[in-house]
Amino acid sequence: MHEFAIARALIDVAEDAARRAAARRIVGLNARIGVLRQVDALLLSEAFAAARGGTACCDAELRVEPVQTELECPACRAAFNSRAWDWRCPRCGAEGENPRGGEELELVSIEVDDDDDSGDSQGPGEERPRRRREPCPV
Ligand SMILES: [Zn+2]
Repeated sequence: MHEFAIARALIDVAEDAARRAAARRIVGLNARIGVLRQVDALLLSEAFAAARGGTACCDAELRVEPVQTELECPACRAAFNSRAWDWRCPRCGAEGENPRGGEELELVSIEVDDDDDSGDSQGPGEERPRRRREPCPV
């Protein structure tokens, strides 16, 4: 259910952003999710596929960029990324501290497509790209 709630939330934010941008269709969602959120990527993509029906995201593809937790080693001062829940320094084995990142759960941008599927009736001088990226400020 965790992943389903996240999928719903991402779709809600994407629909809002598409409305603001007066976009016809959402074709892609670009999200960042921190490792500490313990989101299962496969479950999330299944949940997204189930949740997008009947929404503005019904044809959209969800792309998730995982965000690692950056740690600092108190012993040798190395900076490194945690591996899941292993916070040990890869150089000296000390427990890392000052974690940064890994808690993200945000929709960064959506890709929208203004192709209205009504044939090749695009008038001349149509300069606006049909497919464009809209940022989703958090
Ligand atoms: Zn170290």
